[in-house]
Amino acid sequence: MLKQALVFTKDSSNLFFHILTKCNLSCTHCYINKDQHGANTLDIDTIKAWLNLFSKKAFQTNLIFLGGEPTLHPDLFLAVKEAKRLEFKSIIIDTNGYLFHNILEKISCDDIDFLSFSLDGATKQTNDTIRGKGSYEKVMEGIQIARDKKFSCSMIYTVSDMNIHELELMPDLVKTLGIQRFFIQVIGMRGSSLPLNGKLQVSKDVWLKTIPKVAEKIAAHGIVVLYPKVFLNKNEIFQCAGNVADNYFVFPNGRVYQCPICEDFPLHSYEIRQNTLVAAPRINEKDLFSLTIPEGCVMNKMIQPQNLSYDKKGFPEHQIACCMLKEVISK
Ligand code: SF4
Ligand code: SF4
Repeated sequence: MLKQALVFTKDSSNLFFHILTKCNLSCTHCYINKDQHGANTLDIDTIKAWLNLFSKKAFQTNLIFLGGEPTLHPDLFLAVKEAKRLEFKSIIIDTNGYLFHNILEKISCDDIDFLSFSLDGATKQTNDTIRGKGSYEKVMEGIQIARDKKFSCSMIYTVSDMNIHELELMPDLVKTLGIQRFFIQVIGMRGSSLPLNGKLQVSKDVWLKTIPKVAEKIAAHGIVVLYPKVFLNKNEIFQCAGNVADNYFVFPNGRVYQCPICEDFPLHSYEIRQNTLVAAPRINEKDLFSLTIPEGCVMNKMIQPQNLSYDKKGFPEHQIACCMLKEVISK
């Protein structure tokens, strides 16, 4: 089993492009915050223009189309074709499984690298309690349709207090689905999770006891598993992706963030105005990236300090890694 941390590098960029915030579901932990991200749907000309803003480095940029539910956009297929023309390094569509507008009839498996399905429970009951009635079936159906058409599929499981008990059932479930990658996410205090004040987050002990073990079991089926590092060991060095990586989270109101945890606040690094990328006024998230604190991630300390613990002398027992730092396990 090969286990490694995904190293931050400026030579590899990620563009998380939210082309709309509209969605047919209303998941308990949805991180979309329309006050901060806008409620508009970008038209196809704007999507093309914004993709072109990032095209200089397209050859080294992984592009992820997101929403809301991106397949609700009737012109998603045209956005994919434009991304393909611009030669982005990889193209991924994240979906809740409903695959609106017959998207898989309009693009081929050669147009995108992955179709990524969100599932938050091994059973219909748990998943549908979190994501909405019928959504489990839709994901299963969607994966089947996609596999029949030779699309490569991945799955995203957002771990919370509501579904961690079912994570151990996932290795058996996914081994027959034909997916190639499995992402475990940690629920953040963002969007609709914010008012819950961290109540859905799992403790450090539960996280460390459960996640690496399940990840290995899933990887044993030949599926690549990625999960956030979260807690750094004493010998590991903290790095903020805002300083050492090249990530952009673009929202339909034109805000461009570099840190996903900042997305609930008007702290974005850039804005797109009249199809031009401009620096956002200071103070913004860039001012936080250079701050050094013993707890590691500054944003974590500010918005979710409940995952920190201190020794008798008042020193943090562990640093919190950048939320973008992932462990990767493969067979
Ligand atoms: S499917 Fe995604 S965008 Fe839609 S409500 Fe759920 S988390 Fe939010
Ligand atoms: S999550 Fe923390 S460490 Fe990572 S980019 Fe944001 S502020 Fe930096």
